[in-house]
Amino acid sequence: MLSSWDQLKGHSEQRELFRRSLELGRLSHAYVLAGPEGIGKRQFARLLAQSVFCRNHELAELQICGDCRACRAFAVNAWPDYIEIGVPEGKNTIPIALIAGEDGKRGREGLCYELSMAPQASDRRVAVINDAGLMNTESANALLKTLEEPPADSLILLVCDNPDTLLPTIRSRCQIIRFFPMSADDVKQILLQEEIVDSEEEAASIAALCEGSLEIARQLLNPDLRKLKSSVAKHLSQMEAMKPLKIAASVIEGIEEMSSSTAEQRQNAQWLLRFVADAIQDRLKGLAHGDLADPLTQKLGARSGVDLLAPMLERTIAASRQIDGSSPVKLVLEALFDDLAKLFRVAAKR
Ligand SMILES: [Zn+2]
Repeated sequence: MLSSWDQLKGHSEQRELFRRSLELGRLSHAYVLAGPEGIGKRQFARLLAQSVFCRNHELAELQICGDCRACRAFAVNAWPDYIEIGVPEGKNTIPIALIAGEDGKRGREGLCYELSMAPQASDRRVAVINDAGLMNTESANALLKTLEEPPADSLILLVCDNPDTLLPTIRSRCQIIRFFPMSADDVKQILLQEEIVDSEEEAASIAALCEGSLEIARQLLNPDLRKLKSSVAKHLSQMEAMKPLKIAASVIEGIEEMSSSTAEQRQNAQWLLRFVADAIQDRLKGLAHGDLADPLTQKLGARSGVDLLAPMLERTIAASRQIDGSSPVKLVLEALFDDLAKLFRVAAKR
C-alpha cells in the first residue's frame, strides 16, 4: 500500500477535483471511482480516506503526514472510522453480510450499520467498496437504502472497472469520477521501483504492452507466458526452418498447461499473438529503415522482406480477432502458423 500521494502515478486531475470539493465544502456523500483494472484506483481511494483522517493537515490540503495517530493507525488498518470491503477470497460476489450484516444480525452489522454510527475518532466515516460491480442484487439493494439517505459526515467510495456494472439506481446517487490508464513511462517506473522486473529493457517492453495497467503487466510477467513468448520468438527468427504444426502444438500445449479455464486460455493466446505481432512489427520497422543486420534483409532484400512481413502482421491481427470472436484457440493458432510458414515459402521462392 502507498504511504504518500507522491507515490501514486498519474490521477492528479482526479485528486485536484476532490481537493477543490473539500476546499469548497462540497464533498458529496458517494462517489464511483471508475476505470480499468490495475491503474491505482484502490490506492487512490485509500489515500483519499487517509487524507480525510490525517490530523496534521487541513482537509482542503488533501495530504497525509504518515506520522499522526490517525495515519499510523490507518496504515495498519486499525482506524475505527474506516471501512473497506471487497469480494472475499474464494467468492465471486460481495455478499450482503458485508453490506448489511449476517442473516440473524441484518441491519445491526456490516458497512451500512457502521456508517450510520457517529464517527469515533474523526469528523467523518469513510467506506471503500472494492470491485463494487460485483455486489449481488441483494447487496446492491441494501447499499441503495444507505445511498438514498446517507448518514451525515459519511463518505462512500465505490471502486469499479465499469460503472455500467452498477445498478442504475446506485449510479444515479453517486458522482462518477473516471480514471484513465497510466502512461507507459509511469508503469515502467513502478515496475522498476517495486522491483517487479530488474532490467530497464524488460520494464520498457512490458510497459509498452500493458495498456497502462499494472494488472495486465503482472499477467504478462507470468513466467510460463514469458517462456512461451521466447520460444515463439525463436521460431520466428528462424523462419526458413519454421515447422508450423510443431510450433502450434507447442504453443497450444503451453497455453493449456498454464490454465485449464477457457477464458484464461483465450486471454493467454491473445497475449501470445500480441507478442508475435509486436515482434513482426519491430522487424518491419527495422527493414523499412534498411536494417542490414536482419537475416531477412540478407536473404530477401529489405524491400521483399517488407513485402513478406506486412501480410504476416495482418494475418496475426486477423487471428487475434478470430479469438475475440470465440473461434477455438487451437484451430486459430494452427491455421495462423501454417499461413505464416506459407507466406515465407512464397516470398523465399520469388
Ligand atoms: Zn497524518
